[in-house]
Amino acid sequence: MYPINNLQTAVDLSGNKTYFLDPCSSFSNVRNDSKETFIKHKLEQIQETMISFSAALNICLKEVNELIHTEDVPLDQALGRVLREDIYSPFDLPPFSKSVMDGYAVNKQDLANLSDQHPVNLKICGHIRAGSSVIESLKHGCAMRIMTGAPIPPGADAVIKIEDTVSNGDHVQILRKTGENDFIIPKGQDIQQGQCVISKGTVSGPAELGMLSGLGQMQVSVSQIPKVAIISTGDELVSSKDKREPHQIYDINGYALLGMLQKSGALPKYLGIIKDNEHDLIQAMRLLDNYHIVLISGGVSIGDYDMVQEALLTTGIRKLFWKVRIKPGKPIFVGKRNEQFIFGLPGNPVSSLVNFILFVRPVIDKLIGKKNIGIPTGQATLLNDVYLSPGRRKFLRGSLQVDDGNVGVYIHELQQSGIYSTMLQSNALVEVPGSIQSLQAGKKVKIYDLTSLL
Ligand code: AMP
Ligand code: MG
Repeated sequence: MYPINNLQTAVDLSGNKTYFLDPCSSFSNVRNDSKETFIKHKLEQIQETMISFSAALNICLKEVNELIHTEDVPLDQALGRVLREDIYSPFDLPPFSKSVMDGYAVNKQDLANLSDQHPVNLKICGHIRAGSSVIESLKHGCAMRIMTGAPIPPGADAVIKIEDTVSNGDHVQILRKTGENDFIIPKGQDIQQGQCVISKGTVSGPAELGMLSGLGQMQVSVSQIPKVAIISTGDELVSSKDKREPHQIYDINGYALLGMLQKSGALPKYLGIIKDNEHDLIQAMRLLDNYHIVLISGGVSIGDYDMVQEALLTTGIRKLFWKVRIKPGKPIFVGKRNEQFIFGLPGNPVSSLVNFILFVRPVIDKLIGKKNIGIPTGQATLLNDVYLSPGRRKFLRGSLQVDDGNVGVYIHELQQSGIYSTMLQSNALVEVPGSIQSLQAGKKVKIYDLTSLL
């Protein structure tokens, strides 16, 4: 006899096929299976072992076989996109030696006798503004008036800033020496011709856009944006647009996942709510071929109405794994249909978001060819004592606090996966191995930095 919590009964599969079912349990979702098959399947589900976090993540990443296609976009559409080409500089930057000050271009040999008591008098024999093209050589005994960004004339090797000079029309008195700083950026000091400036796999931020434009590259090859479908499942769910009856709840996961996807460089499409009904989900899955990834939340556990896994398997989806030894987020189901990933995320909003962070995000990152895969991790000093139940690897919601260069993390008290509000206060997850039962303040812990995601 096997105890089955969710059926609130016991089943004997040893031969006489007697079983006792929860009288409230409904089989309306079950395909044409007999009750025995259904129960046997449930038993298999319950007994199936959980896999470790690292094994699950490895499976996900290994299953991303090919990168998404590329497309060429103009620079004004390239922000946040993953570059798929190495960018080499076609010329030196700056392309000519230039002044970093408004002042006078001089030859330092002419200032050899300069001291605080004896200024040097030079003839002003030119005026160079930013953008000047024809530059005469500087002759000894002369200085040229020069503006910031203007090319240094041949023969000059320093710029004296305007504050250190006095001009009297034709001549300028140089009052002070240049010191260490010649106030010239030499040609190619920033970037040299042929240098690889940005490597492929970089997410182009404002700095990259500026560099591409500075190199005269107005179009760039980037990854296409992956399309991701979002479906929320549950008989208790109603759309936030509709009237809610007292026994119903509004959908949290749909829009929370939509936000995470937008912040992860994907194009989400929220397709709404499906009731706990296998048939409807199977119908929906038939229409989702064009998405790179499908996220379905709810119905992946072992309750009587948790039909998502069975429905997915019916549609020919290949199961990669179900259930991971983590808390929150244990019941995650991951499968594939050709190159499409299907994630069955737990309905619990905290669990589904943690699963997104741990599994969906790395898959998206790899699919779009990012150099750095997954949410950035690091170390922080724990700011409070924490007591934990042993068992699964934990991902605890916390807040990062930077104090005088030291990164601390405070772990929030309410860690039950049903408590969604702590998600609003959090900007980090703290990863704690399953064997650890307590952590004292001051200890270094591994954190996932969610500041770019939440
Ligand atoms: P399930 O994974 O379907 O067993 O759902 C677990 C818990 O999450 C239940 O309390 C559900 O009511 C709740 N839940 C499921 N889906 C959502 C959703 N989209 N938004 C908010 N809560 C949900
Ligand atoms: Mg449900």
